[in-house]
Amino acid sequence: MLVVLKPSATKEQIQSLIAWLEGQGLIVHISRGEFYTFLGLIGDTSQIDVTLLEGLAMVDTVKRLSEPFKSANRKFHPDDSIIEVGGLKIGGPHFQVMAGPCSVESPEQILSIAQSVCASGAAILRGGAFKPRTSPYDFQGLHADGIELLLEAKKQTGMPIVTEIMNANHLPMFEQVDIIQVGARNMQNFELLKELGMIRKPILLKRGLANTLQELLMSAEYIMAGGNYNVILCERGIRTFENYTRNTLDLSAVPMLRELSHLPVVVDPSHASGIARLVQPMAMAAVAAGAHGLMIEVHNDPANALCDGAQSLTPEQFDEVFKKVRRVREAVT
Ligand code: PEP
Ligand code: MN
Repeated sequence: MLVVLKPSATKEQIQSLIAWLEGQGLIVHISRGEFYTFLGLIGDTSQIDVTLLEGLAMVDTVKRLSEPFKSANRKFHPDDSIIEVGGLKIGGPHFQVMAGPCSVESPEQILSIAQSVCASGAAILRGGAFKPRTSPYDFQGLHADGIELLLEAKKQTGMPIVTEIMNANHLPMFEQVDIIQVGARNMQNFELLKELGMIRKPILLKRGLANTLQELLMSAEYIMAGGNYNVILCERGIRTFENYTRNTLDLSAVPMLRELSHLPVVVDPSHASGIARLVQPMAMAAVAAGAHGLMIEVHNDPANALCDGAQSLTPEQFDEVFKKVRRVREAVT
């Protein structure tokens, strides 16, 4: 970290700042220019509050030279992480597609969708049991019954399941869930992330609606700091000024996250676009950009879906998308 001091900084001020920084366990290198004094901080600066330093009258600017995320950082873990899920692998050379409805609605619905996406080649079944809806009057999910139905579909198809958690108190219900999803709205629910750090199940961490990649990686860091290294990052579109689409798919997040971190990166083109016909081009683009996987919403009757029907593919459309994605994947690997 580099701290630039103003020309007005007095000797006493500089000495007391250096003493404080050394008290934080840092080595301080001083260099003096014609007007400015530069303090180079060496050591673990992750505990240093940049805004606190910037707020000091004698400080001109502060620049972090290394990232505040350590466990998720590729610098300290050059190889891609490969995460195991119910006998499958995701990350590195391993690519997986997660598919299923936005919400689990009934035994017939989840089972028929599971069977069709499985037949198309999807490896992991998705389905929401706890739904984070903008309106409290909208369908909130089947809760524990939804998880039971997913487990039944898992039994019938052999597919591992991924479903969203919204409250750490619900963890006992997720005992047999293969991947626990943290949705966009909970990306910075730090108490939830800490609890998920205490278990060893894979966590699919979705990027928040208006969060930077560094914030996403810091949220992964919360989980990893507890010892759970099984984190999969998910780009699901961010909120921008564009409103023809539900969100804007930040495709550059894929190569950037892969550069910054060793964690697998998957893309959710369904929430990113909000429009079923855009799912295919966005899924293909995500794979071309290097995604380790996709999460796609599929419904047997999108027009009557209880949640996110407009962005849901029919099983036939999903089959088509899967074939296209496979060809792109072959072309780029
Ligand atoms: C979902 O996967 O159904 C969901 C609610 O996603 P997100 O958190 O990305 O909005
Ligand atoms: Mn959804």
